[in-house]
Amino acid sequence: MFDKEIQLCFDDVLIKPQFSDIKSRSEVKLDAYCNGLNLSVPIISSPMDTVTEYDMYKEMSKLGGLGVIHRYNTIEEQVKIASFDPSNCCCAVGVSGDFLERTSALVKIGVQKICIDVAHGHTAAVRDALWAIRKEFGVDLHIMAGNVATLSGFNDLSDWGANSVRIGIGGGSICSTRLQTGHGMPTFASILECAKSDREAALIADGGIRTAGDIVKALGAGADAVMLGSMLAGTDETPGEIIAVKGKSVKVYRGMASKEAQYAWRGHTASLEGVSSTVELKGPVKDVMFELTQNIRSGLSYSGSRSITEFQSKVQFIRQTSLAAGESKTHIDKS
Ligand code: IMP
Repeated sequence: MFDKEIQLCFDDVLIKPQFSDIKSRSEVKLDAYCNGLNLSVPIISSPMDTVTEYDMYKEMSKLGGLGVIHRYNTIEEQVKIASFDPSNCCCAVGVSGDFLERTSALVKIGVQKICIDVAHGHTAAVRDALWAIRKEFGVDLHIMAGNVATLSGFNDLSDWGANSVRIGIGGGSICSTRLQTGHGMPTFASILECAKSDREAALIADGGIRTAGDIVKALGAGADAVMLGSMLAGTDETPGEIIAVKGKSVKVYRGMASKEAQYAWRGHTASLEGVSSTVELKGPVKDVMFELTQNIRSGLSYSGSRSITEFQSKVQFIRQTSLAAGESKTHIDKS
């Protein structure tokens, strides 16, 4: 069985500029309903131990996005982190072990959004967890689930009770899933495919988003919001010490399936599908978010659009050759 359709990645496409009567970026609104997540900025921080704990979720919440607190901690630790404004945070849980107990402790303190966070979301285990959580905690709890790469994965998770679905397998900056398992799909192609769905679940593009331009492309392809790991890693609000590497101040950014993360949280390794790296310091996340939102607004204005919905109805993607992709990057000779 071979699907001959070409599956495009972010760098394979550009968006054709269109007539615009927008005079200022402030006219462009980035509100994203996201099937009840109600974000004023369509950006969500990843549930990773080098991205989202208390400081990140608090700041993301203030900035109009969302922080998903990782699940690689004890229930007590996760509940303590949720103490700021539990109604406005999302907490990750797994699909085995203490996941129901964890969800129960989170719901008890007022958490209204949880994220079933596993690498391969189109599975019976995720289905059973969705059914169990929905049955026990009712329809008002927002359940994000994933990750999936295909339309059938998106539709199934939605039909099993997910309110939002994370799309993207193998594209993350610290991900080695495609190398280790041969599986995956370009995130941009997955978004295009899942956006064909007639289900209500919000589509969260996740993994491999490197620039504001990628975010604009993801939104244009049909994502309701994007989830970011590496783009937020290294900000003041991420967990982890500042360390010096080759004379530079950096922080660790690591995949949750990396050897380092697995040793830290489990004491042993299972299947390794991620790597650990370091990133340069980026300062306060509000500065990163300000720059990103300004660029996304500019992006929408190039298509003459004042909202994400208008943008999605107008966007015109074109394919670019690999030579054009080279021209699309800054290419001044460095002196
Ligand atoms: P990034 O924004 O490209 O850095 O990707 C972040 C995303 O990678 C996360 O939101 C997860 O979906 C995914 N991810 C996190 N840890 C791992 C891992 O160890 N292996 C594969 N994917 C991972």
